[in-house]
Amino acid sequence: MRAEPQAAPYRADPQILSLADWLGDPVEAADFPKQQLRFRNRRWDRAVGLQDLPEEQWLAHFGAFEPLPDNLPQPLALRYHGHQFRVYNPDIGDGRGFLFAQMRDGAGRLLDCGTKGSGTTPYSRTADGRLTLKGAVREILATEMLEALGAYTSKTFSVVETGEDLWRGDEPSPTRSAVMVRLSHSHIRIGSFQRLAVLEEDDHLRALVDYCLTQFPGPPPPEDAPGRDEPAAIFLHHVVERLADLAATYMVSGFVHGVLNTDNMNITGESFDYGPWRWAPQWQPSFVAAYFDHNGLYAFGRQAEAIRWNCAQLAIALRRICDAEPLMAALDRFGECYKQATMRRFCWRLGVTSRGEEADFKLIQSAERTMVDSKISPDDFFFRHRGGRDAEGDLAEALQGYEATDLTHEYWAQGAVQSMQIDEVETLWAAIAERDDWAPLENKVAALRRMGDALGEPLAPAGHVTA
Ligand code: AMP
Ligand code: MG
Repeated sequence: MRAEPQAAPYRADPQILSLADWLGDPVEAADFPKQQLRFRNRRWDRAVGLQDLPEEQWLAHFGAFEPLPDNLPQPLALRYHGHQFRVYNPDIGDGRGFLFAQMRDGAGRLLDCGTKGSGTTPYSRTADGRLTLKGAVREILATEMLEALGAYTSKTFSVVETGEDLWRGDEPSPTRSAVMVRLSHSHIRIGSFQRLAVLEEDDHLRALVDYCLTQFPGPPPPEDAPGRDEPAAIFLHHVVERLADLAATYMVSGFVHGVLNTDNMNITGESFDYGPWRWAPQWQPSFVAAYFDHNGLYAFGRQAEAIRWNCAQLAIALRRICDAEPLMAALDRFGECYKQATMRRFCWRLGVTSRGEEADFKLIQSAERTMVDSKISPDDFFFRHRGGRDAEGDLAEALQGYEATDLTHEYWAQGAVQSMQIDEVETLWAAIAERDDWAPLENKVAALRRMGDALGEPLAPAGHVTA
């Protein structure tokens, strides 16, 4: 079983206000014609002390965005730039979202409440600042599946349907609208640093590094790392460790994020911002999620390289306030961190105890070969061979000597493998679109949480220390 998120009282802590003058712009939420609660995260509302909020008040805060007590007096659209498909774009920033509130979780860590679809901001350009209801439903599904698979991901906290007609090229239109609230440990992106570097705001770069080191502490760099006392270098070590772990998570989960731009990379290593994601139907490195990713830049098997490239862009931004050598040394650790994280996470998902680098590496190679040869999905593979069971040939040989961690949950005895293939996503959405039937979605979320229980306690994300 998996422990529920630790229950905690509501504890407002709007730390961002000390940076707000140059990190964001105060904005107002749109005035929506309708507010109907469609999803409330009953695992996570208790983690921030909001489990007893009556629905009317929930809508006042997460539909109309009345400030929470002692929190941000006004929402803040965050400023950032970013590389989008390797092209630098200085015209982005929170165009359909804002930072609404900050609070401490039970472990004392700082959590952000951020929105998606809450209206236009100075960064909306020509777009409407809105989110489609289907987009919100897809984000629920992606975050619940990833959370169940042990990923360090933002949580979908609330979805409120807002009663507008939206026009989108990638959905039958008009289509329904929604506003979503997500919980994540910061909304500071690599692009937040890139913007400050391009604008040559070195004092702000230093202040943002300090904020990250204070609010999201990580372990010290290795003993032999050059410049290991320099704040920007320490910070880059943290981010490299975290994002290498995230890349490993995506691979072991069989997940393709789709848009690994630098403005979608949280410096805490938390996965977030779910658009055209897919789960790979097979172990196929060339599998692409986004229909607009014509060159396969963010294909399944290229995600680690894409994320490493993003870390390099952070290093380039930090170069203004730090020597090159310590930054290069931090960046050079990505490959090794990725390898270690992959082994750790692979063993966790398969439900076996690691037998050390050599054996684990062989096991992963054999697993990949098995998936490619048999054309089964990663979800089926990990279910079928949970705890090292039911293997033949090459795979059985690689599994020799491995011990099962836990096979007691009844999920492993039943045949109903949870997955998140596109056909099922579309079927779940069709029930809502055609009949306003939310039961299939609710049942799916319950089934995913049950799979999470069967998989057991997730591994701690790399690159963090908890108080
Ligand atoms: P994304 O691809 O969702 O990470 O978004 C990239 C940029 O486009 C960010 O600055 C978003 O805020 C902005 N954006 C995306 N969709 C919209 C929209 N419907 N209205 C306003 N801005 C948007
Ligand atoms: Mg984004």
